[in-house]
Amino acid sequence: MKIQKYLFKALLSPEGWLEQAVVTVDSLGKIESIKQYIADETIDERVKGYVLPGFQNAHSHAFQYAMAGLAEYHEGQTDDFWSWRNAMYDLALRVSPEQLEAIATQLYAQMACMGYTAVAEFHYLHHQHNGKPFENTSEMGQSLMRAAQRAGLHLTLIPILYQQGGIHQPPTEKQRRFIHAEIEDFFTLIESSKQASSTFERVNIGIGAHSIRAVNLENLRRLVAYRLPNQAFHIHIAEQLKEVEDAQRNLKQRPVEWLFSNIEVDQHFHLVHATHITAKEMEMISTSQANVVICPSTEANLGDGIFPFNAFYAKNGNWSIGTDSHIGLNHLEELRWLDYGQRLIHHQRTSFIHQGQPDGAQNALISSWKGGRNAMGLSAAHFFEIGDYFDAVVIDASEPLIATTSLKHLCNTVLYAQNQSMIYGTISAGKWIVKQGKHQHAESINKNFVETIRKMANR
Ligand SMILES: [Zn+2]
Repeated sequence: MKIQKYLFKALLSPEGWLEQAVVTVDSLGKIESIKQYIADETIDERVKGYVLPGFQNAHSHAFQYAMAGLAEYHEGQTDDFWSWRNAMYDLALRVSPEQLEAIATQLYAQMACMGYTAVAEFHYLHHQHNGKPFENTSEMGQSLMRAAQRAGLHLTLIPILYQQGGIHQPPTEKQRRFIHAEIEDFFTLIESSKQASSTFERVNIGIGAHSIRAVNLENLRRLVAYRLPNQAFHIHIAEQLKEVEDAQRNLKQRPVEWLFSNIEVDQHFHLVHATHITAKEMEMISTSQANVVICPSTEANLGDGIFPFNAFYAKNGNWSIGTDSHIGLNHLEELRWLDYGQRLIHHQRTSFIHQGQPDGAQNALISSWKGGRNAMGLSAAHFFEIGDYFDAVVIDASEPLIATTSLKHLCNTVLYAQNQSMIYGTISAGKWIVKQGKHQHAESINKNFVETIRKMANR
C-alpha cells in the first residue's frame, strides 16, 4: 500500500474535534501524522465525513452468530438463560473448523459494517466433535484468525480454560468440545495459538477462564500465574442470579467477592457480565482498576439483569462493550441500551456525564474505546496516536440530520439519533474495509456463509 493522505471534514482527537483534518497513513496503514489542512496541499482522498476511533468489541463468541434469533420461538414452556444455553451447546457440538471460519468471517464483516475495527474473541470451542484435541491443537482458533484477517479486523483471540460443569461438578457430555481435563494441555493450546498468531499481522493472544463455575481455585491460580505481563485476562463473572446463588452455597461467597479474596485482581482483568454485584463488590472492582465488559443487548436478550452502571462510572470504573451472542451488532445501540436501562431505573438522563464533561456521547465513545483497547491487551493511551494503525469509523457528513448538526451536538446525534445510513464507512489499518455501507469482500463472504448455513440446516 502506498502512503495515503486523507482529508476529512473533522476528526475526533483526544483534545476535541479537529476540523479539516489531514491524516497521513504510511505503507503499513499506521498513522504518520494528523494535521489541519493547509490550502493547496496535495490530498489523495477527500472524504465528506466525520471520523471517530474504530469501535472495539470486547466480547464475542463467534459461532453463536449462527443461532442469532433462533432461541426466540417459545413453544409454551418458560424459557430462560439455561434453556438458551442448551440450544447453544447443540450448535457448539456441530460446528466444524471450516464452518466456524465461514460464520466468523460473515460476523466480523458485519461488525466492520457497524464500525467495529477490533474484536476480542472469548474462545472455548477447542476440540473435535468427539472431545479429542485436533491434530493441529489450535485449529479452531486459526479459523477465527483467518476470519478476522479476511474481514479486516484486529483480533484478540482469548483461549479459555473450561474444566467443570459447575462448581465442584464434572463437565457434562455436551461440554466435551470445551474441556481441558489437564491444565498443561491448555497451556499447549496457548503456545500453539501464539505461534499461529505470529503469522498474522493483526492478531494477538489473551488468556482467560470461562467462569468461577468452570475452573477450580488451584487451576485458576495457575492460569493467572501463567499469563504474560500486560496480557488481558478475561472471565465471565456474575451473569445470572443462579450463578451467584451457586457460589454462595458452594464457595460461601458471591462470585466477585470470591475472586478478589483468592486472586490478585489487577488492571489487566476483564470481568464479563459483572451484572449482579453489591456495593462492596463494585468498590473492589473500581479500586483494583479491573475492567468490566458489559454486553447490553445479550444481557437483555437472555434476561440476565442490569449492571449498576451509573454508580460504577461515577467511581471512574473502567468498562467496555461486547456483543457476546451477537443478537445485536450495533455499538451505538449497545451504548443506548446501557444508558436507557439506567435512565429508566434512576429517572435521570445523565448516565454518561462524567467528570464534568457535558458531552455524554463523547464520554461514552471514548470510555468504551479505552476499555475496549484494554480488553484487547493493546495500549489505550489515547486514540489516533501517531504510529498506531489508523482504525476509524466515518460518519456520513452528507446525511441530512448530520449535515445540519454542529460539532457540539455531533456525537450525541450519532449516538442517540443514528440509523445505519449515518455510517459512511470503516477504515482499518489505513484502508477502507467498508465504504458506503458495503464490505469490500461482501459478495464472496456472504456467499460462503449462506452455503455453509444451508448445509448446516440449523436455521
Ligand atoms: Zn460470553
